[in-house]
Amino acid sequence: MNSFVNEIHAKTILIATQNQKKREEILAIVGKIPGIIFRNTEDFPFIPVVEEDGKTFRENAIKKATTLAKACNTWAMADDSGLEIQALKGRPGVLSSRYSGTDATDKSNIQKVLSELYGVTDEKRTARFVCSIALADPHQLLFVVEDYCEGFITKKASGTGGFGYDPIFCIPYYNQTLAELSQFSASVKNKISHRAKALQQFKERIVPLLRNR
Ligand code: IMP
Repeated sequence: MNSFVNEIHAKTILIATQNQKKREEILAIVGKIPGIIFRNTEDFPFIPVVEEDGKTFRENAIKKATTLAKACNTWAMADDSGLEIQALKGRPGVLSSRYSGTDATDKSNIQKVLSELYGVTDEKRTARFVCSIALADPHQLLFVVEDYCEGFITKKASGTGGFGYDPIFCIPYYNQTLAELSQFSASVKNKISHRAKALQQFKERIVPLLRNR
């Protein structure tokens, strides 16, 4: 089959995120699955704004994927992710992107976390990233997957790669933050991160679905 015919039979999937860094990570891992053409939110003129008001990452991912799949009449995948810190009873959690307020930046969020953890000892700084990914068609939810990346929160930010809380999230095996690990190449983060692992599950679930549709 030539590539034009392949395109006709390919399934279009909207990646329901406006976060460019997330989109790059997603495409680096699942971008080459045969039979899928990934589209960005910018490719659809009438994208509704979906309020992320769920209590869990899973609820938010499902809401975003099902709402956008229906509104855009296409398959849509949505990721909801964030940081859970044990000493903060799971905060920032679903509030990760706006933890320091409505004008939050990665820097202000990091500052808030570091000040809340001031005086907390190394062994009590354990944390994990969580990533839920939902896939929906215009009529229903198709599946949800979730995975984690375990680590601890450093006492100061270090490294320039990645995004979000990466400069303060240390992976014990490497003794480096995710921002240090992804400074020169995204390859390590794209193997060990919560999103990478959830996307591996996503790949395993979507390939048989494509065969049956
Ligand atoms: P949302 O999923 O777009 O609502 O936002 C997730 C927020 O969690 C991001 O804005 C980051 O603050 C944080 N986050 C999620 N994944 C990562 C990651 O891989 N590294 C660092 N921070 C992340």
